[in-house]
Amino acid sequence: MTEVSPAPSTLFTRAPDNSAANLSFDQLPLAPSTLANLKHLGYLQMTPIQAASLPPALAGQDLIAQAKTGSGKTAAFALTLLAKLNPRRFAVQALVLCPTRELADQVTQEIRRLARGEDNIKVLTLCGGSTMRPQISSLEHGAHVVVGTPGRIMDHLQRASLDLSALDSLVLDEADRMLDMGFFDDIVTVAKACPSERQTLLFSATFPEGIATLARQFQRQPQRITLPEQHEAGKIRQRFYEVTNDQRLAAVALLLKHYRPVSTLAFCNTRQQCRDLLQVLRAEGFVALALHGEMEQRERDQVLIQFANRSCSVLVATDVAARGLDIDQLEAVINVDITPDSEIHVHRIGRTGRVDQDGWAFSLVSSNQKGRVANIVKTMGVDVEWRSLNDLQIPVDADKPLMPPMVTLLILGGRKEKIRPGDVLGALTGEAGFSKEQVGKINVTDTSTYVAVLRSIAKDALRKLTAGTIKGKKVKVHLLSDRGG
Ligand code: ADP
Ligand code: MG
Repeated sequence: MTEVSPAPSTLFTRAPDNSAANLSFDQLPLAPSTLANLKHLGYLQMTPIQAASLPPALAGQDLIAQAKTGSGKTAAFALTLLAKLNPRRFAVQALVLCPTRELADQVTQEIRRLARGEDNIKVLTLCGGSTMRPQISSLEHGAHVVVGTPGRIMDHLQRASLDLSALDSLVLDEADRMLDMGFFDDIVTVAKACPSERQTLLFSATFPEGIATLARQFQRQPQRITLPEQHEAGKIRQRFYEVTNDQRLAAVALLLKHYRPVSTLAFCNTRQQCRDLLQVLRAEGFVALALHGEMEQRERDQVLIQFANRSCSVLVATDVAARGLDIDQLEAVINVDITPDSEIHVHRIGRTGRVDQDGWAFSLVSSNQKGRVANIVKTMGVDVEWRSLNDLQIPVDADKPLMPPMVTLLILGGRKEKIRPGDVLGALTGEAGFSKEQVGKINVTDTSTYVAVLRSIAKDALRKLTAGTIKGKKVKVHLLSDRGG
């Protein structure tokens, strides 16, 4: 394995300094149509992981690439596999394995966006939780790129509904997470079903032991690219609080009341702890939702949409449930139980303080967990700032409970009814008479549409949408309950 450590650089949302390497996509061997599409998407410069991995990947090298969530890994492999693709050849030429359906959906969307410069590249998602039959018929119609979870890909291989004999590129995305989820054997089986003449790209946010074992099993002299986590002083303010186990959950509520962050991601180490915390927070009047592995996909989507559109203050999750989520505005991360793995800690708190905003990272530590803090401080090279729960003054206006700024309205009807975000915005700002500023994110799924509106107009907006029409049709609208239920 060769090691390449690219020049350290800041988060890609910041302008790179001039002395840094040339970050223009134009220097890459990409089709003019692809370059034009990148500009159109607003991808003006490569992110550091893209700058480090695209040249060797486009030259056909196998890679093990490690960089934190949100660093642009998807485009690094997507551009590589798209560059090799022959649209006139109706066969699966690239396969991307992802740990969850959600991540597979995100990757599929990104590949489609990046493929827009080319005509008619078919990208198909194959995940569990959806029925097999439509997947099989989509495969019969032909796909160039398949994105899926290991279990479902195995099912298709067993039924011979998926043929990988023409495959050129195999991508393991979020490889660390797939290992966590016990997919090692499945990945090996899928890799064995691929031609040995192929390029294998492995992407991961962290680099646990198992990754090297995976790489040895089926990569060819992979080049290893590591982008060390960037800790920009002052961007993420970390505070550690010593608590007893009895105080832990109540301390979360105290932190929220004191700091009043608009959006908070609270990490628990177990699912049971997630459930307990959710109960405590709701009893205290917070708008909180939980994300866990057993959830049905629709439920999961709903939770994530409500959190991302700022109509839920706190998202309670385990690492497994929260990995890979790309949330752009997050004021605080709370480590309800500090993790023993300092790399996971860095990853957790890296969710906040992104995109030129400051963020808080609070960690609750019992006396027997203090060794973990020592580890973290060593890994991150930061000074530890211990605080006491007694310092958490509740601000005077805190008799007003912390409420999210937005409320989500659920419209029954989505893509299948040809509803587009513009139709909903039009309905609200047209006859209903609201201003654009009173309307937040609009998410359209196959069967539903979620629109965030300012809390102050929620009831009114609900009434007017119900009374009016969208695309000339009456629609059913509900206020998504603050309790998420
Ligand atoms: P990762 O897989 O490393 O977690 P993603 O691939 O999901 O990160 O990318 C995070 C976000 O950054 C996405 O919204 C993506 O569209 C955006 N992005 C990726 N590359 C670029 C770029 N070169 N310029 C601007 N935005 C980018
Ligand atoms: Mg990713």
